[in-house]
Amino acid sequence: LLRVRGLQKSFGSDRVLDSVDLTVGRGRVLALIGPSGSGKTTILRCLNGLELPEGGTIEVAAAPTNADSVGTGTGGRRGATSAVSMAIDFAASPSPKELGALRDRSAMVFQHYNLFPHKTVLQNVIEGPVVVQRRPVAEVMTEALALLERVGLTDKRDSYPFELSGGQQQRVGIVRALALRPQLLLFDEPTSALDPELVGDVLRLIKELADEGWSMVIVTHELEFAREVAHEIAFVDGGTIVEHGNAKQLLRHPQQERTRQFLHRLL
Ligand code: ATP
Repeated sequence: LLRVRGLQKSFGSDRVLDSVDLTVGRGRVLALIGPSGSGKTTILRCLNGLELPEGGTIEVAAAPTNADSVGTGTGGRRGATSAVSMAIDFAASPSPKELGALRDRSAMVFQHYNLFPHKTVLQNVIEGPVVVQRRPVAEVMTEALALLERVGLTDKRDSYPFELSGGQQQRVGIVRALALRPQLLLFDEPTSALDPELVGDVLRLIKELADEGWSMVIVTHELEFAREVAHEIAFVDGGTIVEHGNAKQLLRHPQQERTRQFLHRLL
C-alpha cells in the first residue's frame, strides 16, 4: 500500500529523520514504538503530508476499484483517493497534485483529538468529506450517522467536543477519520491523553477496525496493545528504524541491542 524509502527530515539544523525505510501492506497494521523524541510522530506526519520531508520517496499503491462503501462496519475502503499509483520524490519538490493525492490516501487520529471546538460532533465528522472531498452532503450524512451509531455516540451528534469525555472525543476523532474513507489510518498515540479507565474502549475500537482489515500505522507506548493488534512493529530510535519485523517476534526476540535495552526498560 505504501513504501517509504530514505526519508529525511530536519527542523532547522536538527536532523530528526534519517533514511527512514518502511513498508505498509494492504490490510496490515504496523506499530511504531520507541523513546520519546525519536521521531515517531514526525514519520506519521510525513506519511500524510502534514510535514514535508527534504528527501526520500513515498510510493503509494492505486486505490482499489471494486471495494464497496465504507463506514458501516464492512471494512471496505473505497475512498475519494486517486486510482493510480505514484511515487513521490521529496528531493524534487512534489507538486501540489502529488501532495493532495498523498493527503487524500490517509486520515490521522491525533493524540489530543484535534476536534473543531466550535462545531458539533456531526459537523466535525462531515466537514472533511463535504468541504474537502466535495462529496454529496446527503450521502456523507448517512455514512456519518451510521459511524456514530457504531461507536455508540448517536445521542451526542449535536453536542460540542467540550461536552464529551476524552474517550468520547477520541471515538469522534476515529469516526471523523473513517468518514474520509482513507486507504490508510494513522494513529498518533491515540490513548495517551486519556484517563486510564477510558483507554480500553478506544483500544477495543482500534482492534475491531484492525480485525476488519483496515490498513493502519499506530504510534503507541502501549506494548501490550501493539503485541495484540499489530502484525509488525518498527522500533524507532534517533530518527531511524533500528528494527522492523513481526510484532510478537520483535517483542520476544529483539535482534538489536538498542531494541533490547528499550524493551527491557519497559517490560
Ligand atoms: P514522543 O513519543 O515524545 O511523542 P516522537 O518519537 O513522536 O516523541 P517526534 O515528535 O517525532 O518524536 O519528535 C522528534 C524530534 O523532532 C524531537 O526532538 C522534537 O523536538 C523535534 N520536533 C518535532 N516537531 C518539531 C517542530 N515542528 N519543530 C521543531 N522540532 C520538532
